Amino acid sequence: MEEVLLIKLGEIVLKGLNRKTFEQVLLKNIRRRLAPRGEFTVTSAQSTIYVKPASPEADLDLAEEKAGKIFGVIAYARACAVEKEIGAIQRAAAEYLKNELAGVSTFKVEGKRSDKKFPLTSMEAAAQVGGYLLSKNPHLSVDVHNPELTVRVEIREEAAYIHGAPRPGAGGLPVGTGGQAAILISGGIDSPVAAWMMARRGVELTAIHFASPPYTSERAEMKVQELLRKVSEYSGRMKMYTVEIAHMQEEIRDKCPEELFTIIMRRFMMRASTRIAEKTGCSALITGESLGQVASQTIQAIACTDAAAEMPVFRPLIGTDKAEIVSLSHQIGTFDISIEPYEDCCTVFTPRHPRTRPSLPFVEKAEAALDVQALVDECLESVRCVEITPERIYPAETASF
Ligand code: ATP
Ligand code: MG
Repeated sequence: MEEVLLIKLGEIVLKGLNRKTFEQVLLKNIRRRLAPRGEFTVTSAQSTIYVKPASPEADLDLAEEKAGKIFGVIAYARACAVEKEIGAIQRAAAEYLKNELAGVSTFKVEGKRSDKKFPLTSMEAAAQVGGYLLSKNPHLSVDVHNPELTVRVEIREEAAYIHGAPRPGAGGLPVGTGGQAAILISGGIDSPVAAWMMARRGVELTAIHFASPPYTSERAEMKVQELLRKVSEYSGRMKMYTVEIAHMQEEIRDKCPEELFTIIMRRFMMRASTRIAEKTGCSALITGESLGQVASQTIQAIACTDAAAEMPVFRPLIGTDKAEIVSLSHQIGTFDISIEPYEDCCTVFTPRHPRTRPSLPFVEKAEAALDVQALVDECLESVRCVEITPERIYPAETASF
């Protein structure tokens, strides 16, 4: 019995003229993601992608696990493929779903015939398979409204496919169809979730991390890399740029009012990030800010931060609350890493009483004590880079922006 993975497309099917392009990107992403898992053939027809093992090492269990983390997939199911003959379909259904059928007391069969040359209609095929399964499993009864198990029989061009309940996919749009953006990533709970949310909308990610050695440690940076490795299981590979800002922070501490420390630092982050983003093909920035969560995330503070960014800043968590963010981070698998206790550059020199409603002219006046341009240039002279994949983290060349 040949086993395959059927992958159902999500929102893509709502696309009009560019639907083909979206499908092509998704196919490419699936092929790339499955490549380390052995050889598969990946083809598409009629809003379904077929993944077939093409070598003995091709592991369908692992392929299934990967499929659950590919954006653009609404659902997926392991199915058995059989010749399009009703007797063969009946026998295969009884055999392939033997364990599932043994474990329930009610079921129904849903038929779907997209090959109109098949002599039975969808309803007729379903009824015949249902009758056969009943005859082989006397403990079962049919419940069309609330069955414990729905057996699906799909009669398609090259074969008939039989499967039980499909699993929910990760949803969203294929990564790469939504352009490229830079996620400002800290070691916290929020920014990895923000990265994941934008990747789910098809955005290809580049990561920027600000570190503050000697105030922050190498372990803190490794933690951020680990977080991104988890995110990359969904988003695919990405580059991470690490920018050192200790000197800039000392300058702010020494020359600006303490209550504005965080907001001025965040404006520096925006300027430096804009430059990196522009030079790496990104057209937006992403942060993990959520309205009102801390002093630098009030409407007024965000306005001051935005004024220093020269591209759109996406804040996908702006209207979520912490419990929702935490629940998503558990789902993504980043939570346990995020709560490891390492320092972040934002916790260095934190003001005791940050101003919660800064006005832009007030902040700009305070900033005038600094040589802003020179400090940004200095941080960007030597930016460390690594390339992150789900399997490994590769060192890359130091860059200058
Ligand atoms: P997070 O949990 O993502 O760290 P947070 O609630 O701790 O968020 P802040 O520390 O104020 O909030 O940071 C707000 C946002 O600024 C973060 O979500 C992230 O996008 C960005 N950010 C903070 N620290 C850094 C850093 N060291 N490097 C890059 N970006 C950062
Ligand atoms: Mg933080």
